[in-house]
Amino acid sequence: MSELYLAIDIGGTKLTAGIVDAQGAVLIRDRVPTPSRDVWQALARLVRRVVAASPTPPAACGVGCGGPVKPDGIVSPLYVPSWRGFPIRDQIEQLTGLPTVVDTDAKALASGEAWHGAAQGVNDFIGVVVATGVSGGIISGGRLLQGRSGNAGGIGHMVVEPEGRDCVCGGQGCLDAYCSRSAIEEETGRAAQRAPRAIMERTGTLVGRALASVGAVVDLKLAVVGGSLALGFGDVFFEAAQHELDVRARLGFVSGFKIVPVGLGHHAPLVGAAALARFAPPQSFSPPSGVARPPADDTGPATGPATGPATEPTASAAGPSPSSGDGGAGGAAEGGQLSPGATGE
Ligand SMILES: [Zn+2]
Repeated sequence: MSELYLAIDIGGTKLTAGIVDAQGAVLIRDRVPTPSRDVWQALARLVRRVVAASPTPPAACGVGCGGPVKPDGIVSPLYVPSWRGFPIRDQIEQLTGLPTVVDTDAKALASGEAWHGAAQGVNDFIGVVVATGVSGGIISGGRLLQGRSGNAGGIGHMVVEPEGRDCVCGGQGCLDAYCSRSAIEEETGRAAQRAPRAIMERTGTLVGRALASVGAVVDLKLAVVGGSLALGFGDVFFEAAQHELDVRARLGFVSGFKIVPVGLGHHAPLVGAAALARFAPPQSFSPPSGVARPPADDTGPATGPATGPATEPTASAAGPSPSSGDGGAGGAAEGGQLSPGATGE
């Protein structure tokens, strides 16, 4: 039995947990609706159930969560209003005794897609989630882009309509204010999955428009898109997004920019969370009394540096990009400090 990971995805409409093996296979998957209150109690019950069903005890835990996420595992997901400054990493560690890594859902998705999905071997791409909210995670030079506070890649709050609608973030005219499940349901008065075709197309068009700018800014030409809304809208969404990209992305280095669905389908969030656990061993874990911490080697990647920073996984997962061995670069777990020269190239 290979090493197993407890994987958790915190979404605005559902909480999902599972057990994922080192080959990225989802062995167990369970979920519950996200309650409006007492979210932790619901999540703790779900996690206990999944861990109890695991064939062997998991070695580590990864959590993908709607942002914003702080480097110390404190989360304030926009679409889970009862969680503001919630210390999910500490809570999961106390509940399970497992070293735990927390990052945004889209950065998790990007990591998983580099590991076993549609972006294997690709050093520069963006992973996008279009679901309850819209979010992104960028891999540049084979490394997960962290940003100053660990929230790099948040395309949901790119302004696409300067005088547009108010956004849940407090801003105005954000992509999220047009393309998130909640925005569409508010606009149409019906379940987002039953949105009229024009809305599905507009969703694709606006995501494609935002991506054209991302491609020019970050120099990439692949977007891997998941999330229940994008996958549910299917071809209508992807064709509209690709058309907009073809129209907008005209610079030589972004022409030919492709948008594709996640290779891992509906397993993408859990495999992404597992990728966080596999490749980003937490640096500051202190187990509650009486709980033995697994040896550090147990949480290191089999194919990469055993003590790599949070950004290593994608370097190794993304194929030939050499590991820089900079060791001092903190990822999400260490506050995303700059690591000059750690380009992976
Ligand atoms: Zn916003």
